[in-house]
Amino acid sequence: MEPFILELGVRVNKLEIIHRNDRIEIKPREWLNTKMWREIKEFEWYLRDYFFRQSNSQQDSRHKFQKERVGIEMMNLYLRYRNSNLEKLNELVNLVSENLISRQVIIKKTNNISGDNSSLELTNKLSRLQCSKCLYISYLSIKEPRNCLRCSSTELHDFPKRKS
Ligand SMILES: [Zn+2]
Repeated sequence: MEPFILELGVRVNKLEIIHRNDRIEIKPREWLNTKMWREIKEFEWYLRDYFFRQSNSQQDSRHKFQKERVGIEMMNLYLRYRNSNLEKLNELVNLVSENLISRQVIIKKTNNISGDNSSLELTNKLSRLQCSKCLYISYLSIKEPRNCLRCSSTELHDFPKRKS
């Protein structure tokens, strides 16, 4: 088994990990309902947005994040999560960050033995790309396949479009 699958621990029961030629797909098992799945995908979008904005910040650009702070920081930054339950947000951070680790978007570094004080680090800056087909914005790392995260189209362009 892949190390990241072991790290998922009990949560792996909710997900099925499929290896394709050039990528790894994580799919919900049947009993993970659609609502939950949509929630996870939505959170992944926000987490990528968060990483993108933090690493491109003018004053305080960073690529290293304290894992246990991510949930609370997102709660403060995004209206969408303002009234969320912090425990639930942290659960989503765990779930989605494992996926991002498997896609080599981030790596996790553990600073102590109990592993409760770990940091998440971007392997590369994320690019903000818009799909020409469905207009969805994807934040992709250089190691990921250049596909729209919603419709898998390869027709992506920088967002906002660069003036030529
Ligand atoms: Zn698309």
